[in-house]
This record gives sequence, structure tokens and C-alpha cells, in this order.
Amino acid sequence: MHEFSLAKEIESIVALTLAEKPARLIQVNLVVGGLSGVLPEALLSALELISAEGPLKGAKFSIREDKATFKCKSCGVLTTPQPPFFCCEQCGSWDGELGGGSELNIESLEVEQ
Ligand SMILES: [Zn+2]
Repeated sequence: MHEFSLAKEIESIVALTLAEKPARLIQVNLVVGGLSGVLPEALLSALELISAEGPLKGAKFSIREDKATFKCKSCGVLTTPQPPFFCCEQCGSWDGELGGGSELNIESLEVEQ
């Protein structure tokens, strides 16, 4: 389960951050790129499982999707295709340029001082 190991990674990054600057963790804001292959719902479930104890205990999670974009070379339209079919939603062409996030990032941590 890919998302579970990502959740563990997020946990260790958050733990390091909190070790440097102790505070009570309220919320973790994440950004998931549309090309990252990460399923936001699966990641959320994994995080909820992990946050039962440890550094993430009691924290909430917010996941923002940085959707993939597809600039079609045939009709010129810019669409946001649904993975795994990165083709033009207007004309169905596969000839175009993909854009958008390919990473998973921790955007910010909300803490109580
Ligand atoms: Zn097109």
C-alpha cells in the first residue's frame, strides 16, 4: 500500500518539525499533484489510521489536489483530465503537453503555540 508508506513519511517529517519547534499540532495541509499517482482518499485513510497515536495524534488533515492539465495540440484546449487517462477531454487526442503537480508536498502545519 503506497499511500501507507507516504503517510509514514509525512509522519516523520512532521515529527522532525515539531522536535525543532515544539507545539500542539492542529492540522496538516497537504498538496497532492495530479500526476503524482497518489490517491487523496487512500492517503487520507492511511493518515487517519496513523494519527491514532504518535506525533500525528489528534491532528486533522487537509488535502488539496493540484490537478493535472493537458494542453491539446490538436484543438488547443486546456483541460484537466482524470487520471489515468491523460488525453484531451475535448477531442480525445493524446497529442499534447501535460502539466501540473507530480509531487506530494506538505504545504503547511497549523499548530497551537
Ligand atoms: Zn483536443
